[in-house]
Amino acid sequence: MIVVMEPGATAEQVEKTVQRVESLGLKANVIVGTERTVVAAIGDKREHFKESLESGEGVSAVLPIVAPYKMASREVHPEPSKIRVLDFVAGGGEVGFIAGPCSVENETQILETARAVKASGATGLRGGAFKPRTSPYSFQGLKEDGLKMLAAARDETNLCIVTEVMGTDDVELVAKYADVLQVGARNMQNYRLLEAVGGAGRPVLLKRGPSATMDEFLLAAEYILNEGNDQVMLCERGIRTFEGHTRFTLPLASVTYLHRKTHLPVIVDPSHGTGHAYMVPDMAVAAAAAGADGLIIEVHPDPSSAMSDGYQSLTFAEFDRTMHRCKAVIDALRALDA
Ligand code: PEP
Ligand code: MN
Repeated sequence: MIVVMEPGATAEQVEKTVQRVESLGLKANVIVGTERTVVAAIGDKREHFKESLESGEGVSAVLPIVAPYKMASREVHPEPSKIRVLDFVAGGGEVGFIAGPCSVENETQILETARAVKASGATGLRGGAFKPRTSPYSFQGLKEDGLKMLAAARDETNLCIVTEVMGTDDVELVAKYADVLQVGARNMQNYRLLEAVGGAGRPVLLKRGPSATMDEFLLAAEYILNEGNDQVMLCERGIRTFEGHTRFTLPLASVTYLHRKTHLPVIVDPSHGTGHAYMVPDMAVAAAAAGADGLIIEVHPDPSSAMSDGYQSLTFAEFDRTMHRCKAVIDALRALDA
């Protein structure tokens, strides 16, 4: 349920409402909007308490939350959320660009990439130090050494570091070096990991599971939000279909759908979404045109020698041109919509 406070409700009245919600055995989350403050009352069997909450001082209405997810829904939080880390901003009209290799391979590779993508206008640097590989015989990542290289690249460039955490045991270590914790597609429904990153004090980039529905995706985000972490970004990275001409199928309608259902920023990954470098620039531009709040793109100094995902990685020059095209589309749409 959402307890909608009256426009002029005092801080004391909001606090009393929170206490009332908690005394009923429900979890209270206060969301302060520009027009109204609402208290989301989350928990089972909430409907019984509607009347009791309605009589509270400063309470204007008590409404049910229709969506299966609560904290992620627009019903609870009508205004879009903005995630800001260093110079990276995504959401509420701002578009954040994250770029970098699939895997951190060595110091030179990550530093050169960081400098190049920053020069092209990226504000985030990606790079896996813990790699979820389909085969146990493939390169698994440099682990803590890779995290140190990412941190050194941030120290030089001020790019926000986005890197994957694969297991609950690694959350503390990854959070020590990273600015944004990435939960990979294969782990979208690893609920203990979602709870752990929810408590890690860092923003999270949650990737969509390759066969997850939108409700499952949003309920996964809900696990993180429920731990008190409201810094969650959703990443559409393609789903598994019957189609074989792309590595995954990239549904850009997800951006529009998610914007209607949730306040969380939506990031698109055209690299994993297509699996072919030649398709990435156009799909990046299309995602920007669809209103994505950010893009995450694989870029490598020499894709042909990459230790993972080289076939879907852009060169520095290709990334630079893609950035120009995305920005031109974003600026043109802003001018039209202004
Ligand atoms: C990645 O970003 O390198 C990655 C492994 O992505 P996903 O989890 O979407 O497959
Ligand atoms: Mn990859």
